[in-house]
Amino acid sequence: MEILKGIHRIQTPLGTRSLYQHLLIDERCVLIDTGVTRTPEQVIIPYLKRVGLGPDRIDLALISHADADHFGGDESLRRVAPRALIACHELDVAWVEDPDRLVEERYNQFSEPHGMGLTPEERAGARGMMGGKVGVDLSLQGGEQIRMGERWRVEILHVPGHTQGHLMVYDPRSEAAIICDAALGSVIPDAEGNPSMPPTYCYPETYLPSIRKISALNPKHLLTSHYPAMRGREVQAFLRESLDFVRRVERAILSALRKTKGRMTMREIIDTVSSSLGKWPEEAAPQLAFPLAGHLNLLSKAKRIQKGRRKGLACWEIA
Ligand SMILES: [Zn+2]
Repeated sequence: MEILKGIHRIQTPLGTRSLYQHLLIDERCVLIDTGVTRTPEQVIIPYLKRVGLGPDRIDLALISHADADHFGGDESLRRVAPRALIACHELDVAWVEDPDRLVEERYNQFSEPHGMGLTPEERAGARGMMGGKVGVDLSLQGGEQIRMGERWRVEILHVPGHTQGHLMVYDPRSEAAIICDAALGSVIPDAEGNPSMPPTYCYPETYLPSIRKISALNPKHLLTSHYPAMRGREVQAFLRESLDFVRRVERAILSALRKTKGRMTMREIIDTVSSSLGKWPEEAAPQLAFPLAGHLNLLSKAKRIQKGRRKGLACWEIA
């Protein structure tokens, strides 16, 4: 539905969670994210038809970041809307263009040093969310503007942290920030609003400044990919909650390492801190590896903790 002038928000199921996608429609038509493998043909094109537009009206598919549920539909889009250019940040191009590489380098990155690799089923599940390889037509850096029509321009901003090349769109006309996964709160909800999984930011050193950058825009409306739309006071409250979670994760890691007598592996840290950080289901706890890896890296660099090896696995202790 059109939730703000020219901004359409489309909800689709994503497993037990929801995925929200956005279409900006004026003289130009911009789709933000292509969803999973068949989202464009099954959801986006039928939606456009309902508002009286054909698939050939899509000028640009702006991919917010390299995750399966955000660009997995690129091949489907290319088939149904061949005129649409596909764009993403230059730092995410390599993963967006190559789903197999994304699975190996992002989703399976905890395999070798942490013994937390994907099972064959998980690997097939992740790969199955995306279609075939599709080239990115336009690499962006953030700072670009799109002229949507005579009196409407929107801005593209670089907000890294969840991936290195995460992009968002700011619409000054509606004072709306379409941030996708740039800030992830303290727990990602399922479609019913129950805790589903931990926030999977990866690089706290850029995630925090990105959230502050969004906060400084002082948006009236905050549109994410997995949370219901937020407005007014909810916006800054959510951003504060996102910032606060990052601080809690760092404190939880340091406190776990201080309490233990020996070194801890990634899995041991997750088992120790997960229940104090959130009420997501136990099977979602391994997703904490994404933020933890970022924090452990930073804490090691700052020499507050020390990395070692135990039985072939990476482990850490207080320095
Ligand atoms: Zn994501």
